[in-house]
Amino acid sequence: MRNRSLVVSLHDVSPMTRVECGTILAELHALGVPCASLLVIPDHHHRGHMLADAEFGPWLREQAAAGHEVVVHGYHHQRERQGGESLRDKLTTRFYTADEGEFYDLDRASATVLVTKARTEFQQLGVATAGFIAPAWLLSDEAECALRDLQCEYTTRLGDVLDLRSGRSFASQSLVWSVRSAWRRQVSLAWNAFLFGRLTANPLLRISIHPVDLRQAKVWQQIRELVTRALAEREPLTYLAWLTRQRIATTPP
Ligand SMILES: [Zn+2]
Repeated sequence: MRNRSLVVSLHDVSPMTRVECGTILAELHALGVPCASLLVIPDHHHRGHMLADAEFGPWLREQAAAGHEVVVHGYHHQRERQGGESLRDKLTTRFYTADEGEFYDLDRASATVLVTKARTEFQQLGVATAGFIAPAWLLSDEAECALRDLQCEYTTRLGDVLDLRSGRSFASQSLVWSVRSAWRRQVSLAWNAFLFGRLTANPLLRISIHPVDLRQAKVWQQIRELVTRALAEREPLTYLAWLTRQRIATTPP
């Protein structure tokens, strides 16, 4: 009996990455992962809105019907640089992530507008969404308040899953690979091997995949290996299915 869980999430799903995402999901399925959380960007880098792409909507509905979860993942997945940024801001938004932290310092009103717009557009596409995960997991406190106002069910950060209804946080650091340069790939391979071992006893293991990981042979090989090893003792679930179980487990009879 596998009493621990594995959530595989596929980040940055959009018309721009749809073909690679299809390949990744097919490989995951062959490994034994029938359902993943798909983090979808409505208008990826302003380079093609999901509603304007004739193939994307039917494809996404097909994925949802197959058991995958659709999660709102920012709106443009891009942050404009601003004047007067501190060193910490620069390190976080440019070094940790390449100007992708769209919700890093967003105010409550702007976050409300973007998340509402995204959710309405997913409804137009005919797919249900319950969670919101900020690009690069960078979510400002005000944007988190906006998610609560909008009754989003949950969000995730690098180190935990946050139930926005109860405020309960579940600690589990996600495995994730940075492939932007050779040294980042080397560090990622070593770090994720270490982290996988450290999380053995955690009830939840999170493996976060990006479409670009597929193009890096060593990275992709490690992802396949760790998913396979995790499946020997864990049940694959989506974030929403996993969260629903936690809620049921803590509801008084
Ligand atoms: Zn992303």
